[in-house]
Amino acid sequence: MEIIPTQRQVETAKEIDALLEEHKAWIDRLNKSLICRTSAAADMLEEDAHLHCPLGHWLEVRAGKLFSNDGQHQELRSRHKHIHDLARTMVMAANSGAMIEERTYEDFLVAASEFEKLIGTAYDSIIAAINATDPLTGAQNRSHMRALLEDRIAKIGSGLPSWILMIDLDHFKSINDRYGHEVGDRVLKGFSSVVRDHIRSSDLFFRYGGEEFLLCISDVGEDRIANVAERLRSAISRESYEAPDGTRFSTTASFGITRLSADHDVTSVINAADTAMYAAKRAGRNQVIFSPTSASEDLQKASIGAH
Ligand code: GH3
Ligand code: MG
Ligand code: MG
Repeated sequence: MEIIPTQRQVETAKEIDALLEEHKAWIDRLNKSLICRTSAAADMLEEDAHLHCPLGHWLEVRAGKLFSNDGQHQELRSRHKHIHDLARTMVMAANSGAMIEERTYEDFLVAASEFEKLIGTAYDSIIAAINATDPLTGAQNRSHMRALLEDRIAKIGSGLPSWILMIDLDHFKSINDRYGHEVGDRVLKGFSSVVRDHIRSSDLFFRYGGEEFLLCISDVGEDRIANVAERLRSAISRESYEAPDGTRFSTTASFGITRLSADHDVTSVINAADTAMYAAKRAGRNQVIFSPTSASEDLQKASIGAH
């Protein structure tokens, strides 16, 4: 998902409002041309009229990244095209002096009203998704974290396990102290981008607090999660940032991992991951530690990536 800064919450809402208003005005224009037999704008007759429409252009070109639900986006695209196709059929009939089929106009009214309902729902979920996003890092903020984790716990079945990874940047305060808060912010952004490159869209990524992040990775076995964590730990330590004097520096992070289990609540799994993360700090930072009850003895003993 792309990072959407706070000011864009308002801008996105305004942009969608304006596009919907414009689309309503287009429907008024269409009705006027059909009722008063004025000539409809040529763009209504084109095969790809739905793409010339500003709302259609937005749906095709720019809206995709705002939808967390791809099905909803595809549905809106196809319904929007359907509206423009019906409009073209009616305008062509009117232009040639033919009757407009009652059925076609009824279909058009239903399609337009259903589209409006659907885009209303999509609008709400787009704004909710933007509001649930931390503007600096693009990670989700904590607003829905508990509910989403409860959902993951409820879905635990006989398949592969799910895991909570608590990740805290090491000695982050000293980055702020040495290079300034803005550089610290850049590190948080860079770190989050590295994390996003290592997870799937089905994984959950939250900013838990200042420089502490929580990942929930589902449907992977013990070896695989150890591998993912190790690759992520290593990638974070390899990412470099520019200091104000032009030199480059890098940072590391400590990981605590626990397995989600159906008989634990959200608070206890977060506490377990947090405790493992603090164990990683005590063990020298820049390493991955599994919480005692959630992994095989081999993994517990292995202090992965210790330096
Ligand atoms: P440790 O390795 O033990 O985790 O040490 P640390 O310095 O990372 O931890 P500490 O809790 O002492 O400091 C965290 C710092 O993170 C303090 C706070 O100012 C900084 N911080 C929190 N949120 C932000 C932010 O959004 N931007 C910047 N630049 N700094 C932040
Ligand atoms: Mg820290
Ligand atoms: Mg911290």
